[in-house]
Amino acid sequence: MLSGMALRPCPTCRTPTAWEGNPFKPFCSERCQTRDLGAWSSESYRLPEKPKEEDGEGWSDELEED
Ligand SMILES: [Zn+2]
Repeated sequence: MLSGMALRPCPTCRTPTAWEGNPFKPFCSERCQTRDLGAWSSESYRLPEKPKEEDGEGWSDELEED
């Protein structure tokens, strides 16, 4: 595919990231770098992809077999 470009998954968001010329490697961006470093000293470690707001509905109806 992109020969010559070394792509590695960002440890934080798993986005294929170019290492060459990337000051934030192995992260894709400063944001991910900061998040990863801050994750160890902060309890707000969460992935930015999709916030799981819905929780508990949909899967529990199969238990209601009364
Ligand atoms: Zn990232």
